Order: sequence, then structure tokens, then C-alpha cells
Amino acid sequence: MGSIDLHLHTSASDGRLTPAQLVDMVYSRGLRIVAITDHDTVDGIEPALKQAERYPALMMIPGIEMSTYAPGCEVHLLGYFIDYTHPKLAGFCTRMRSDRVERARAMVKKLNGLGLNIGWEQVETIAGDSNIGRPHIAMALIEKGYINGFDEAFELYLGYGKPAYVDRFKITPEEAVSLIAECGGLPVLAHPLTVDNYPAVIAGLCTAGLEGLEIYYKDFSRDERRVLLRIAEKMNLVATGGSDYHGIDNSLEVLPGDAGVPEDVGKKLLARAREKGIDIPGSFERYTC
Ligand code: AMP
Ligand code: ZN
Ligand code: FE
Ligand code: FE
Repeated sequence: MGSIDLHLHTSASDGRLTPAQLVDMVYSRGLRIVAITDHDTVDGIEPALKQAERYPALMMIPGIEMSTYAPGCEVHLLGYFIDYTHPKLAGFCTRMRSDRVERARAMVKKLNGLGLNIGWEQVETIAGDSNIGRPHIAMALIEKGYINGFDEAFELYLGYGKPAYVDRFKITPEEAVSLIAECGGLPVLAHPLTVDNYPAVIAGLCTAGLEGLEIYYKDFSRDERRVLLRIAEKMNLVATGGSDYHGIDNSLEVLPGDAGVPEDVGKKLLARAREKGIDIPGSFERYTC
């Protein structure tokens, strides 16, 4: 198991563990550099940083995972070291939050039209205070016995272009890259192999200010990582990675620290952030090796 994981979700979006629980868990698993990257929200950052004060050896990178669209597919952008108090970021998160509620309502309606009788109240209860997302709808479908697991929910109903799918408020990947940079963060393309025509998309995003590629992602094989590393080298992008841990499907999920992120990734990410003049939390100051 490694000590770095730069892609983790909490109950602020669609993860199961609260930010404090996740911090305890990653520390007890021996992780030392982690980033919380909830979908379109930074609500988990402050409680996570507070909890992380208990563990001086743990470095917590404030992050976000922004949902965007390129033609024909969804594209996720990670923002590391982002100023989670930035007013522009708050505007984005507020807009996304209300859109997510509207979208989830519309998806429940579509499911009802398909004869799957989950209730909006049921989904609301499952989501609680979280930034609602499709996994919460999937849980309602599982609860009612319509499907057996998350993959099935996305494959049959909730995935892009499937019968219960509804588009969300659209920003482009380029807009997200600019917004992350404007809010003091380092923009990184999440799980690039899920993006249609990814070499062209990456090239376009580099022009917009992309700084990194998530290469050591839980689902990517050694060969796939090698291909991505070559692109990163060519485009001068920093390599990041993580488990995308949600804690909601424990039988199948890769645990924090188990995504095969090499130990020098932290050093390289920090070097890039420093090079870009990005504000780095105090706990990282002593991290030079
Ligand atoms: P949303 O925030 O509503 O766009 O939902 C995105 C989240 O749904 C992802 O981060 C994953 O947690 C989950 N997800 C997306 N596709 C799948 C899939 N094929 N199987 C299981 N979970 C998925
Ligand atoms: Zn998620
Ligand atoms: Fe993602
Ligand atoms: Fe994610």
C-alpha cells in the first residue's frame, strides 16, 4: 500500500464517510498525502482540515472534482490546492448544488415513467446533506430491489445517454480549467481514459492551462498508465493518481492508498504547485524530499 491518494470522496458529495471519518481512516491506513476531491463542492474541506490537525504527519490537499461536458461525454476536472473560500468557486458550487437537485428530481421522474417506483423523498433521505448525485439514486434503486449493484444502475438507467439520464448545467472542460486556475488551484484531468478522443481533448486543455493528468487511477492497467505517462511527458503535465474511493460499494472498491500511486508523485505535484506560485498549506512546508 502506498502513502499517497489524491482522489477521495466524502459525504459532502457521494462518499459514505464524513470528512472527519475519512481523515481518521486514511491516517490509520498509513497515508501521508491525501486530497479530498468531492463532486462540485468544497463543503468537506474545512471539517477535513480540522480533523487533520490531529495528525501532524498527514498532509491534506484541499481539492474538488468538477463535472463538465465535452461533445459526447462527461469530463471530470480535479483542482488541487484550490482556495476553497474563493467567491467565484462558491458561486460555481451553489449553482451546481441547485442544478444537481433539479437534475436528480428529473431523473427520478424518468425512472418513475419507466415503471421504477422510487420516491423523491426516499432519494432525499439517502442524500441527506450531501451534494446529491446519481449514486444516491442508485442506492434508492438498490433499496427497492430493482437492481443489484451500482454498475447495473449506471448501465441500465443512469449512465450517460441511458433511459433515465438527464443532462446537468453544462460547463466545458476548458471553463473548469480556467475556473480552477482563477481560484488558485492546479487543474488536472481526472481519469483521462473515460474521455472520448482523450489525446485531442488533452491537447485542447493544455492550451487552456491544464497542469496534470490523473494517470495512477484505480481502474487503469500498467500498460494504460504507460501510454498516459508518455502523453504527460510530451505535454509537460504532472502525473497524479488515486483510488476515487467512495466507501459505498465496499466489495468492489479499491481502498485509499491502494491505487498504485508512486511515492514521488507528492514531491512532483508540490514542485509544480510551487513553480506556479500556488498557495500551499503550511503543513507542506517541511515536505521537501
Ligand atoms: P454524478 O455526480 O451525479 O455525475 O455521479 C457521478 C458518480 O457516479 C461518479 O463519481 C461515480 O461515483 C458514480 N458512477 C459513475 N459511473 C458509474 C458506473 N458506471 N458504475 C458505478 N458508479 C458510477
Ligand atoms: Zn462520485
Ligand atoms: Fe470522476
Ligand atoms: Fe471521483
